[in-house]
This record gives sequence, C-alpha cells and structure tokens, in this order.
Amino acid sequence: MDNCLFCRIALGEIPSRKVYADEDLFAFHDINPARPLHILVIPRRHITSLATSTEADTLVLGRMLAVANRLATENGSPDGFRVIINTGRIGQQEVQHLHAHIVGGPDPVGPMLKRV
Ligand code: AMP
Ligand code: ZN
Repeated sequence: MDNCLFCRIALGEIPSRKVYADEDLFAFHDINPARPLHILVIPRRHITSLATSTEADTLVLGRMLAVANRLATENGSPDGFRVIINTGRIGQQEVQHLHAHIVGGPDPVGPMLKRV
C-alpha cells in the first residue's frame, strides 16, 4: 500500500523509534504513548485490520503475539503487559494497518475498559 503510514514506517520511508524488526514484523514506539511502555507491532505486509485478516495470516498473527513478551521484557515491562488490537469502526481503529499495542511499564496499566 503506497500511501499507508505504517507500511511506510516498516519500509523506513517515515522515521520511527524502531525496537524490533525481522522479515515479517516491525515494532516501534508509539508516537503518543499511553503508558511508560507503548510499542506497536505490525506485519510488514499490509493487512488493514484484524477484521480483514484471514486464516492465511495465521503465521504472522501468531508471531505478533509471540514477540510481545520479549519486547515488553526488554523495554521496561518485565512483570506483565497488555496487548490491544483495536479493530475497525467499533474497535475505534485509527490507523488502517493492523497493529498490536503492547502497553506496560513498572505499574499496572489500569482497568481494561471504562464501563458505559
Ligand atoms: P489505533 O487507534 O489502534 O489505530 O492506534 C494508532 C496508534 O498509532 C496511536 O496510538 C498513535 O499514537 C500511533 N501513531 C500514529 N502515528 C504514528 C507514528 N508516525 N509513529 C508512531 N506511532 C504513531
Ligand atoms: Zn499498510
């Protein structure tokens, strides 16, 4: 996707604070962190969201979770973390390239959702 922000970050065309990269994945610090640790993990290949993913994406989806522990531990959240994947309109996804937020830090991150 030519004009996708996160595709361009993964290609290095737009700068980011990279924390991890391999042939399938790219991870970088969120520009507007919600917690002391706030990393985004994305597939290099454009997938719009979890709502458009298919079982053909199983490997990369699994790998996004599989690296989360190491990224959290190595970046200041050694005692647990939270993974959030906002999806589509209902999930209030703002950037239309699949990404997992890994949030944490020294203290608990707070309630999962505000009750309405
Ligand atoms: P979401 O609401 O799940 O789509 O989250 C999008 C996230 O991307 C937000 O937490 C933003 O702060 C983050 N973000 C937007 N632009 C950038 C950027 N250029 N570099 C790093 N993070 C970004
Ligand atoms: Zn993209």
